Amino acid sequence: MPTRYDVDRAQLGELLAGTPRYRVDQVWSGLYDHLTEPHQWTNLPKTMRAELSALLPTALTPVTESVSDRGDTIKFLWELDGGSRVETVLMLYRDRATVCISSQAGCAMACGFCATGQAGFTRHLTVGEIVEQVARASRRARDLDRRVSNVVYMGMGEPMANESTVWASVERLHGDIGLSARHITISTVGIIPGIRKLAERPLPVNLAVSLHAANDALRDELVPINRRYPIDDLMKACADYLVARHRRVSFEWAMIEGVNDRDSDATELAALCRRLRPHAHVNLIPLNPTPGYLTRGSSLKRVHEFRDRLEALGANATVRQNRGTDIDAACGQLAAGQPVSVKLARQQPAASTDG
Ligand code: SAH
Repeated sequence: MPTRYDVDRAQLGELLAGTPRYRVDQVWSGLYDHLTEPHQWTNLPKTMRAELSALLPTALTPVTESVSDRGDTIKFLWELDGGSRVETVLMLYRDRATVCISSQAGCAMACGFCATGQAGFTRHLTVGEIVEQVARASRRARDLDRRVSNVVYMGMGEPMANESTVWASVERLHGDIGLSARHITISTVGIIPGIRKLAERPLPVNLAVSLHAANDALRDELVPINRRYPIDDLMKACADYLVARHRRVSFEWAMIEGVNDRDSDATELAALCRRLRPHAHVNLIPLNPTPGYLTRGSSLKRVHEFRDRLEALGANATVRQNRGTDIDAACGQLAAGQPVSVKLARQQPAASTDG
């Protein structure tokens, strides 16, 4: 059964066949302009509101909400139909509010340092499950007198392994919730066919690539899908994305002590950044602790040295502010309470399958 944010406008019309057009518009407006619940749509008759609650079920059942950073980071844990669990993180900044959403329950990419990768893949999310994360987080932000301005597909899962559904959700966020494409970022581990598909889509969303290593030997180890989509091919796909969409491409780099934070890593990474026009921007994230990966993150001092080195080599880099580490809401920590298999650090993970 489709949930309330699964159906598009035409499907809603069919679902409410026989209902006057203006009523259908009111329902759509309740879902997308007001982001509220059917019982709150007081412009509709009471009997109709009750019917709508049954006809348009929710996709997400709230399980817990955790708060950190003095209220500026809120992590939501949801249960989905079938029992899988996913997480969403709302981050309030002085000048913007960002929601980090999940596109899959679990992930098949098996990056050893990521808690979601440690837990393995359960299933793709539906459009309704993705959009409802934004709707609910936006409602929560509004209760705090804030407006969600940015959405990042950086929660659980690999968005480009679920490209068509992710794209349908992007269109809903843009066309119906009213977010600017420039404020939507899709992060990928580097699934080239997904990046190529995205380049053909009509909206210029931002592309982030989780690079973490700038040579194939190290990247094969850290990001196993690199064996299928090696760096040189990935850079070509990024270059084509830039040409097609005119959006900056950024590289994510989780800094792991002694693994990818050496001077040689900075040199290789800067060379990759300079290959793109305009140059790729690097986001440095000190590795966050996860239960299944034992190597430490780089010290903050090393992170800053690495940044300075990149800049001296002509690459732009930002040290990403870390949010919600104490509630396991930071990059790479989302596991939705799943048990993870403990791998020894830097052990070769098993070859992964596409999610
Ligand atoms: N699967 C997509 C979307 C997830 S984004 C992707 O990989 O891009 C989550 C980001 O956090 C990715 O850049 C990921 O590589 C990074 N990450 C994973 N584990 C991390 C950790 N332990 N510490 C810091 N960043 C991590």
